[in-house]
Amino acid sequence: MKLTKLMIAAVAALSVAFTSCGGKKSTTIWQSDDKVRAVATSTMVADMVKVIGGDQVEVTGLMDPTVDPHGYDQTFEDTAAINSADVVFYSGLHLEGRMQDSLEKRASKGEKVYAVTDAIPHEYIIQEEGGHDPHVWGDPEIWTYTVNEVVKGLSAADAANAADFKARGEAYRAELLELKKWATARAQEVPEGQRVMVTSHDAFAYFGNAFGFKVKGLQGISSDDQAGLGAANQLVSFIKENKLKMIFPESSVNDKGIKAVANEAGVAVSEVHLFSDACGTPGDIAEINGESYDKGTYIGMIKHNVNTVVEGLK
Ligand SMILES: [Zn+2]
Repeated sequence: MKLTKLMIAAVAALSVAFTSCGGKKSTTIWQSDDKVRAVATSTMVADMVKVIGGDQVEVTGLMDPTVDPHGYDQTFEDTAAINSADVVFYSGLHLEGRMQDSLEKRASKGEKVYAVTDAIPHEYIIQEEGGHDPHVWGDPEIWTYTVNEVVKGLSAADAANAADFKARGEAYRAELLELKKWATARAQEVPEGQRVMVTSHDAFAYFGNAFGFKVKGLQGISSDDQAGLGAANQLVSFIKENKLKMIFPESSVNDKGIKAVANEAGVAVSEVHLFSDACGTPGDIAEINGESYDKGTYIGMIKHNVNTVVEGLK
């Protein structure tokens, strides 16, 4: 009984905190009355839903670019957005570790809730000790399969515009395959023996397979995993053995651990953070080698990562 009262008090305090900071979506979650209302969890999924939905869909993304999806706790605002949405998309494979159960429950009750990675053929999913590796977007070609799930979900929510969703999906798929070609060629600029990436957590296995990099993270496949002293020492030895020039922090993970490892191993830490589990800030335009891209998009995220790693290791 005592605990229940305490919990009610805590919830009340939280909701006061919410209203008093003038939360961005507290009054009106949705801006438009005539568009399909789609909620997406991670920034990569939200970007895809925006591209495929076009003008016919309003997208509310739950996680911002600094959010780590593994440890993300759903807020009251998120629940309100999900409850009022026509369709909900999440990444799946337990990327959204603390949200997946409730999203699965909604889907099993017949709500239009889709894990975009459900469309990826099983043989492409990397199996890890702790389960599946969720960081599938590291390979743009594997990520193309998730287009199918977004087209399916949007079409279920708005059958009248299904042909448009399909057409945009096809165009986006072609762009993603083009991106893979570009990244594969760019990766070749790093001599083969130097294609080794050390990062904050194990988020780059698919990226490494796609572009020929050996990868090692300080923490496991979830940034919620704590890196032990043994793991840190092993990583220091690995860095020394491979004579690495540089290792890489990530934008959605605290960089204290990776900096300590770099210090111990006597190696440089990239000043530029990689985007592991979230895109950059929308509208943050990069210009490099005569081309420009928005780091707040999935395509910009991959280009940023490839350019950062290639410039750091070559
Ligand atoms: Zn991760």
